[in-house]
Order: sequence, then structure tokens, then C-alpha cells
Amino acid sequence: MSKVHNFSAGPGILPQEVLQQSAAACIDFDGLHLSLLEISHRSKNYEKVMDVARSTVKELFEVGDEYEVVYLGGGASLQFAMVPYNLLRENGTAAYVNTGVWASKAIKEAKIIGNTKVIASSEDKKFTYIPKGFEIPSDADYLHITSNNTIYGTQMREFPKCPVPLVCDMSSDIFSRKVNAKDFALIYAGAQKNMGPAGSTMVMVKKDVLGKTGRKMLSMMDYQVHIKGGSMYNTPPVFPIYVTLLTLQWLKANGGIAWIEELNRAKATLLYDEIDRNSCFVGTVATEDRSWMNACFLMNNPSLEPEFDKMWKEANISGIRGHRDVGGYRASLYNALPLESVQVLVDVMKEFECKYSS
Ligand SMILES: *Cc1c(COP(=O)(O)O)cnc(C)c1O
Repeated sequence: MSKVHNFSAGPGILPQEVLQQSAAACIDFDGLHLSLLEISHRSKNYEKVMDVARSTVKELFEVGDEYEVVYLGGGASLQFAMVPYNLLRENGTAAYVNTGVWASKAIKEAKIIGNTKVIASSEDKKFTYIPKGFEIPSDADYLHITSNNTIYGTQMREFPKCPVPLVCDMSSDIFSRKVNAKDFALIYAGAQKNMGPAGSTMVMVKKDVLGKTGRKMLSMMDYQVHIKGGSMYNTPPVFPIYVTLLTLQWLKANGGIAWIEELNRAKATLLYDEIDRNSCFVGTVATEDRSWMNACFLMNNPSLEPEFDKMWKEANISGIRGHRDVGGYRASLYNALPLESVQVLVDVMKEFECKYSS
């Protein structure tokens, strides 16, 4: 089988060795002669998976015991509701920055739970930039931001200095670069973009922000219940969490955050330099806010898209068709995508220019 260069936006590419280890665990997990899919989540072998999957997040984020990590079902989308449910006091206000589709969905849920104020937005320019220099109300219960906007291809290079607890949806750029995790009260990420397969969502929360809403809490919606249960209050998504653990261990074994940040920088630079140089393509977002994870670009002459599509498909490239809201192309450069795959795409773009530029 020839190699496919997988630029899928999500679920996204996973390391080959992680796929192989995961496949093996489906047949015989830990030498038990049982599949990981058919053993109790309370077995010793699985409890170890859960423990290490939780502790490795804290290790990679370099935080201590003031933080707790849980893995939950329901996707990042459930966190849009759980965050205000757990942090927004009944008479309090939550502040949000609206940077795209996912941020808008988070705002929609928060508004159902309580007072919600959008303090900055880039909707005026179709979410093609990151708002900066906005004022954060010092009486807000928290500020919610989205570090990387998967659909529009913008990314926060710097995070706001925040006088209130900072909450971040990191679904599409978690562990892609160094961040100062201690500046955040809560970080969540659906695993399927950059840390594992679909089915589990990682939530890391600072314990001291919890339990203050005055709300009567539904158990499954209560972070404190999941923390107390060691992320096993109910049956967790056992297999997705295992694959996530393997992916985090792959990251660590290869050099950790410092290594992946350099690789991701190199991949993004290679592709954006070509988008800027090539007369056939144009980037869609403000240069300083370009995402290292999702590079969106359009063709100057869209009538030639079928020709370009034919060429990249012949080069075994997959998943670069743009989101329906943006059109054109989106190349997702998640952690597991090798630099060589980006080089293949860049070569096809060069070849296309030679053939079709006037
Ligand atoms: C994909 C994505 C989501 C939604 O994730 P689900 O797990 O499908 O609910 C939320 N936020 C961001 C930034 C995303 O990229």
C-alpha cells in the first residue's frame, strides 16, 4: 500500500506506531489474552491506563496538584455546556471571545446557563483574524477563548493577560506548542484533532475554581463528581483514552513539546511560504494570526480547482478540501503529520503553478 498524506481536519492523523499498538491491544491487551475492549475498566491493567493518561497531561503541561485531569464523553461540544454549568454563578457573568464557529457554539450554550457577554469578536471580517487588546471585565466569573480556530485557520499566538479565571478550548492545537498552562483555570480538548481518536475529551481544571456556582448539580455534568471518581464515575470511553495515552507517550518519547513545536513551526513555515510565493494561491487569514494547525488557502482562479484536485489526489494527498463555510483548501498539519507530507503538497502546488499560471 502506498503512503497516504493525511491532512484531515478531524478526526485527524495519528502516528502509525500508535495505530499498530492500538490494533494489537484490541486482540491482546497487556499480555492478558483479552481484548482491551472486553475487560472491566476497574481492572488493575486499565486503572493504570487511566492513571497514566491523566498524569501525562499534567506532566506535558508542567502543572502540579492544584490541577485535576478527567476524560469525559460527549465531545468538546459537551464542554460548551459543562464549563458555564460548573463555573458561572447564578448571578454572575461569563465573558467570551468569539473567534469562529466553535466559539459561537460555546457562547450559545453559555447563554442558556446564565449571563454571558461577548467582549470581543472577529465576526465583522468573517473570523479571519484574532481580536486583540480587548478589555476583560474584572468581575467576570471566567473568560472563555478558543486557542485555535479549526475552521477559519486562525490561532492565538499570545493569550490575553487575564484578571479572571481563563478557560480555553484547545481542541485543535493542544500539545502543539509550549503554553504556560498555569495561566489557565481550565483547558479542554476533544481528543480527535491533535491528541487521540474521537470519543473522549480531556478536561484539565484548577480545583479552586470549582464548587462556587450555588447551582444544584446534575452528577454527570459535575466536574467534581468525575474528579472524585478518578474519571471513572461511570464507564469511561476506555479505548479512546488508551489510544490517547499512546499518542501522548509517542509525543514524549520523540522529544515532547519542545520537539513538536519546532516540527510544527517548520511544517507551517514551509506551507505558508509556498502559499505566499505561489501566484496561483492566496491565504485567507491575517498573516500574524495564521494557524500552525489548519492552513486555509484559496485558488486565485477557482475554475482551475478540478485540475489541482486531480494533481493532489494523484500524489496520494487526502483531506485538504476546505470547510464548506470557507471554501478552497484547508491543510491540517496536526502533530502526527510528518514534514515530508507537507513537502509533497508544496511540490504539487509548485508543479501546478508551472502548468497553469499565465
Ligand atoms: C472540533 C472542535 C470542536 C468540537 O468537537 P466535538 O468533539 O465534535 O464536540 C470544538 N472546538 C474546536 C476548536 C474544534 O476544533
